Amino acid sequence: MSKTYEAVIIGGGIVGSSVGYHLAREGVETLLIDRDDHGRATDAGAGVISPATSSRTADDTWFEFATGAVEYYPELDEQLERDGATETSYAQQGTIAAAIDPDEIEPFEEALQRIDDRNLDTIEEIDPSEAVERFPALAEPKRVFYYPEAGRVDGRAFAEALQTAGRSHGLETLADEVTSIRTESGAISGVEAASSGRINAESVVVAGGAWSPTLGDQLGVTLPIDPQRGQVAHLSLPDTNTDSWPIVNSFRHHYIVPWPDGKIIFGATREPDIAFDPRLTAGGVDEVLSEGLRVAPGLQDATLEELRVGLRPVSEDNIPILGPIADVNGAYAATGHGATGLMLGPYSGKIVAECVTGEREHIPESFSVARFE
Ligand SMILES: Cc1cc2nc3c(=O)[nH]c(=O)nc-3n(C[C@H](O)[C@H](O)[C@H](O)COP(=O)(O)OP(=O)(O)OC[C@H]3O[C@@H](n4cnc5c(N)ncnc54)[C@H](O)[C@@H]3O)c2cc1C
Repeated sequence: MSKTYEAVIIGGGIVGSSVGYHLAREGVETLLIDRDDHGRATDAGAGVISPATSSRTADDTWFEFATGAVEYYPELDEQLERDGATETSYAQQGTIAAAIDPDEIEPFEEALQRIDDRNLDTIEEIDPSEAVERFPALAEPKRVFYYPEAGRVDGRAFAEALQTAGRSHGLETLADEVTSIRTESGAISGVEAASSGRINAESVVVAGGAWSPTLGDQLGVTLPIDPQRGQVAHLSLPDTNTDSWPIVNSFRHHYIVPWPDGKIIFGATREPDIAFDPRLTAGGVDEVLSEGLRVAPGLQDATLEELRVGLRPVSEDNIPILGPIADVNGAYAATGHGATGLMLGPYSGKIVAECVTGEREHIPESFSVARFE
């Protein structure tokens, strides 16, 4: 008789990898299956972890969840290191939010107001010259604030770290495509995989990012998620120490994320209504480069190293979809993280793992699968 896993996770982006890590850590026999689609969001994610500077600060539900997620990051990062995954890429390096042109002053003031409403008192307006000292390639801003707790993470590196650490607890991983989810008498019995065939399982977690809706259909549940394309540009500045440069947010929905050794990422386009079309486009790349150089003209001569594109899994109400799928025993969802899945995903993975083990009985209604029924 072939082996029966206690849990199979479909999708090995940052969300599925986190579910897998947390389940394995609890001793649950878990198999993570991933098809590695071109356009996987986690591979393109530029990695800003900063709820306080998000325009969604005004959204209570999202903000409270994001605060928990950000507080969990350093603890998780240390745990991964103890479990043998040292290359997580996570670091707290602060962010500056800069209004460069006059049209950005009004959104800047709105952001300050939201910060004030939230009593986020570590954020302070700083002198424009101080911002340029911190990020020497910056255009002199009109107004700017600094938020020291913001962090950054490379999605691909963090997902790999979660899987590496998970393997140290027995997590198994498989490169394959789940073609169907099998149920018997209203309960999960396993999955069918394109190359590996039938795999028995007591529970299944749908963590397929933008590809999740077809998996939901098989379980008779609507997971209303659309792909939103994002394009980013990777630059490098030879012989420049960027280790302590902060992230830069502007007020036209773009950002710049510096990494050690002179690496800089310009992000990102937000292109809805493109279906499954993870292409780099002339217009998208032009937008990302033009906006990055408007904010940081000192990077004109940086080397253009790489362009990436990914599909963000955006849910209908822009809130993740987490937890049990009511009509099928043993079925769970962990998806719909949109533009903030690197920030929220590791924490969501922990929460969904707790649902699978039975440690957590309740998911807030606004995150539940049932809210769309
Ligand atoms: C350009 C860009 C910039 C971003 N910047 C940020 C940022 O600064 N901060 C932030 O917090 N977030 C950011 N995000 C969002 C973040 O990257 C996503 O929300 C997050 O990565 C989603 O992770 P996921 O695991 O749900 O999905 P994905 O990473 O897309 O992974 C889903 C996986 O499921 C697999 N799969 C699907 N169906 C099947 C199947 N049937 N069988 C097997 N495998 C399957 C796919 O192949 C894929 O590997 C950005 C995204 C993009 C595209």
